[in-house]
Amino acid sequence: MVVRRCIASGRFLLRMVALLVALVCTPVVADESYKIDPSIKKLIGEVSRERLESDVRTLVGFGTRQTESETDHPTRGIGAARRWIESEFKKIAAKTGGRMTVSLDSYTESPPSRRIAKPVEIVNVIATLKGTQPESVDRVYVVSGHYDSICSDPTDSKCDAPGANDDASGVAAVLEAARVLSAHEFEATIVFAAVAAEEQGLYGSKHLANGYKVKGVNIAGMLTNDIVGNSVSQLGIRDAKHVRVFSEGVPEIETPEEKRVRLSTGSENDAPARQLARFVDGCCRQYVDGFDVELMFRRDRLMRGGDHTSFSRAGYPAVRLTEMNEDYRHQHQNVRKEEGVQYGDLPEYVDFGYLANVTRTNVAALANLASAPARPANVRIVLDKLAPTTTIAWDKNKEPDVVGYELIWRKTSSPTWDGFDSIGNVDRITTDRSKDNFFFGVRAVDKDDHRSVVTFARPKRK
Ligand SMILES: [Zn+2]
Repeated sequence: MVVRRCIASGRFLLRMVALLVALVCTPVVADESYKIDPSIKKLIGEVSRERLESDVRTLVGFGTRQTESETDHPTRGIGAARRWIESEFKKIAAKTGGRMTVSLDSYTESPPSRRIAKPVEIVNVIATLKGTQPESVDRVYVVSGHYDSICSDPTDSKCDAPGANDDASGVAAVLEAARVLSAHEFEATIVFAAVAAEEQGLYGSKHLANGYKVKGVNIAGMLTNDIVGNSVSQLGIRDAKHVRVFSEGVPEIETPEEKRVRLSTGSENDAPARQLARFVDGCCRQYVDGFDVELMFRRDRLMRGGDHTSFSRAGYPAVRLTEMNEDYRHQHQNVRKEEGVQYGDLPEYVDFGYLANVTRTNVAALANLASAPARPANVRIVLDKLAPTTTIAWDKNKEPDVVGYELIWRKTSSPTWDGFDSIGNVDRITTDRSKDNFFFGVRAVDKDDHRSVVTFARPKRK
């Protein structure tokens, strides 16, 4: 969001305003603004619409990817689909000199379980691109799509369930992001995940997220791509220029103490997931021409869910990318024609140019996240006495290439950050802005001008 501070013009000058705006307004690059990194810009240019289309059509070609569909048929069913995804990841990994590894994350889900009739192996296909900076290699970003699909009856494992948009589009975005990003070295680690059994109840992502949690893995951000390929709504509205990014405001796993602080600060709009969403928005605006993020300040669409929720519940910041306008005739429907209307999640209803822009948004966000420092830790508003000024302190980052910090702020009614100050390589700042009237955050900046995700400042007594 670019905030323009305008010099007031008299009414009689109204006709001149359009011309004058460019001259008299000082554009203040606000909120999540990043200097363009030419090496990241180059990666954005390498995203291929053709490869995305080919991947979606290949996934559709397995007939069904329903969770309980065949696993040993060479060309039909979920088993064939995951073997193909694994082989694609392995092809990509083979070119990385050992930086990328491919693995399967699996377990058996048994009844009684929602939408599961018999014990079934749930298998996530995972490619891990290891970071190269010792201080950052243990900081991990996850990008996912789900490769299972369903028909009208979620337990029908025999019907054709092409799942082109839901969610071959998301898996294709993950594969393409892996191809493009693996050619480059990043400081932090990126995990590319094709997860299973989303449609039955988020089983695959739940197993993956809980596995990371048990091992104490630092998942610093997670993006899921689910239904990211269609640009025309059921009402015929076309929007090929925006992608929705959903983020939760109040974490479901909030502790009573966190609730107390949230209520006393009014920070229901500042969970880590929401800072991540604002970061993705900033990356998209800076790097993806003619395309923008629509921030959605709710966890998901009304009464619906996705794989990011599994990560949120494990305590990780997670957001969901989804097209602007959905067409329910092409989601979770048996392929059929009724009164001249085609139902079914078929590839002819995927806009591959649109999917390419969503993929570019992922690439821009992941490249920036994995190039930038970690978000600053222990960012706190120091409360010692009532004072008109605001003192904010934090722990210095451990990465050797961090050169300074930025204090970022916004009015309490602003959805995104209004502005920031560069404040040098310090761990404390006092500002004249009132803590009663503004929200504050801090982000770290490295020598190549990569900015971290913002950490929201919460009050802490001395
Ligand atoms: Zn889905």
